[in-house]
Amino acid sequence: MIKADLHIHTTYSSDSTVKPKTLVEKLVAHNFVKAAAVTDHDTAKGLTVTQKLAVAYPDILIIPGVEISTTEGDLLILGTEEMPPQPWTVEAVVDFARERDCVSVAAHPYREYGMGDLARNYKVDAIEVLNGVSSSSSNKLAHDLAKSMGLPGLAGSDAHNPSELFTAYTEVQASLDVDEILKAIKKGLVAAHSTARSIHF
Ligand SMILES: [Zn+2]
Repeated sequence: MIKADLHIHTTYSSDSTVKPKTLVEKLVAHNFVKAAAVTDHDTAKGLTVTQKLAVAYPDILIIPGVEISTTEGDLLILGTEEMPPQPWTVEAVVDFARERDCVSVAAHPYREYGMGDLARNYKVDAIEVLNGVSSSSSNKLAHDLAKSMGLPGLAGSDAHNPSELFTAYTEVQASLDVDEILKAIKKGLVAAHSTARSIHF
């Protein structure tokens, strides 16, 4: 069983102040979150830098990822180190993820840049039901969406500054291994948690 923050922005996202080095140091220091997905906006450059820094620490894991600004709303891909080809429609990006055994996630569906009810039209693998910077009410709507679609509900901080890191995390029934984590997510062996507030589903 591992605990992973599945949605983090580094300084390679133009709107984040989380340096890759800070992310790695905070992950090393944290007492139970030991895995983190780097999901910068439309780039995997921050991921590469963070992975290189993390190599020195065998007890943490950086999960590859990206947050794509699709034409219908933000979509996370977990497990990819490369960018999907343009144009970024949800359908094309979901297909890209599936072909590579990655996990596609509708990010904060009921917040700005979220895809809302449109998520129902696509074969996404999971819904982000607990986003660290979304309101409780939009997280609740996301939780209801996941439930009605029969999809796993994931949690991530969506940190854009160091103090927001690890405020939301996903408990995954897997060891500290990317492939195992992705497979466990697809099987729904996950639970969403928050350290910043108590949210009851
Ligand atoms: Zn984000």
